[in-house]
Amino acid sequence: MSDSVTDVVIAGAGPYGLSTAAYLQNVGLNVRVIGEPMRFWDANMPEGMYLKSEPFASSLGAPQEGMRFTDRHPDWRVGHPIPLETFVEYGRWFAAEAVAGIEDAQVVTVERGGPAGYLVTVSTGETIASRTVVVAVGVGPFAHIPDELAGMPSWLVSHSSAHSDLSLFAGKEVAVVGAGQSALETAVLLADAGAHPHLLARRRVLDWNTVPAETRPLRAKALGGPRSGLGTGYRTWLWAERPGLVRYLPDRTRQRIVRETLPPAGAWWLRDRLDERIRVSTGRHLAKAVEHDDGIDVTTTDRAGRRLVSEVEHVIAATGYVPDVERLALLAPELRGRIAIRAGGAPLLSRDFEASTSGLYFAGLAAAPTFGPVMRFVHGADFAARRIAHDIIRRTPRARVPASVLEPEMPER
Ligand SMILES: Cc1cc2nc3c(=O)[nH]c(=O)nc-3n(C[C@H](O)[C@H](O)[C@H](O)COP(=O)(O)OP(=O)(O)OC[C@H]3O[C@@H](n4cnc5c(N)ncnc54)[C@H](O)[C@@H]3O)c2cc1C
Repeated sequence: MSDSVTDVVIAGAGPYGLSTAAYLQNVGLNVRVIGEPMRFWDANMPEGMYLKSEPFASSLGAPQEGMRFTDRHPDWRVGHPIPLETFVEYGRWFAAEAVAGIEDAQVVTVERGGPAGYLVTVSTGETIASRTVVVAVGVGPFAHIPDELAGMPSWLVSHSSAHSDLSLFAGKEVAVVGAGQSALETAVLLADAGAHPHLLARRRVLDWNTVPAETRPLRAKALGGPRSGLGTGYRTWLWAERPGLVRYLPDRTRQRIVRETLPPAGAWWLRDRLDERIRVSTGRHLAKAVEHDDGIDVTTTDRAGRRLVSEVEHVIAATGYVPDVERLALLAPELRGRIAIRAGGAPLLSRDFEASTSGLYFAGLAAAPTFGPVMRFVHGADFAARRIAHDIIRRTPRARVPASVLEPEMPER
């Protein structure tokens, strides 16, 4: 039984959910957006963090003019890292300006049934009947902890997304596992907070991005390729700016692109801050972790099989996110079982981000195996939002779409 009926429910009010809502509400659809705006960025990223994406590639998508990050902060140019709180403020400003009636609640369950096709139960106790559901729950549900560390109590092992305040580790020995920006920045922020971090990286050499030039000579542009939301280069431009084409690449090629585009590397502005306060061990593969009275011993091996035992009080796994439908507890098991998936567990999606179950859409990281690496970043939000909105509007009988709203700038299919 349902308490209310709507055209669309959007689960999650991060960059992808908010962008999709902005496009849908613009044509007068009845859209319920469930989630606290920018909650993951505010609660699950460390204080003191800076964005790695450039200002021009850090915008949410909206049909209205003037809603880009660089509209709100016109002085922020290439090479000017955005502090986390500035981006959260931008996202919340966007939410207030472009999206009406966001509900600060959680979607508890999505199941098939009811008069409209889906029944969505919200943490307030309300059940909403909806024709369409957009799952925009972001990266959080997909946090990945390696098997060697999985199952340990949370006071000994946590994922990097569990922390916004690293000061609680002041004075403690903490191992950070990983070699990407999240691992490197967590290690630096731990040191800033007075902890003693030990970075354990599988890569033999840490990689760092180079300082981007604000202006580039014509020759550099011709040789190096255009700048895009994911970096510089002809192919990178394609992955960043034409995700609709990426979907048509052979599956193996696309998965390789998702893996290899923007491999683990630190931002140029972080490099000097990774100093002698941080012990760094590279070329280390996790072997096992053993709990003891005062903490945890993490054993790693190098390529020659030499063991290193790190005795620490806590381990932070900055080991990324793996999209897998099975981890979306908000989807009822019966519904999850009906969603066709790829190897690895991500949903198979249509060119409009729709799953095999009609009326159910996935935005954000869950769409990366289909549309490529840009779906891992804010830069993909506008494309995803347009596509999803276009399809929902097309299929909603009473929605009248002003031709100017979506069509002219629809990226090619
Ligand atoms: C440490 C870190 C740094 C990053 N830096 C960058 C960067 O510099 N640039 C960049 O482009 N990308 C960056 N990313 C990736 C970034 O997280 C994604 O690009 C972006 O958040 C995707 O937006 P989203 O809306 O899909 O997800 P999110 O921002 O995660 O938003 C999803 C929202 O849904 C909410 N939610 C979850 N479950 C429910 C539910 N059941 N009901 C209601 N709401 C729910 C969550 O609380 C969350 O607020 C970073 C990621 C991490 C972890």
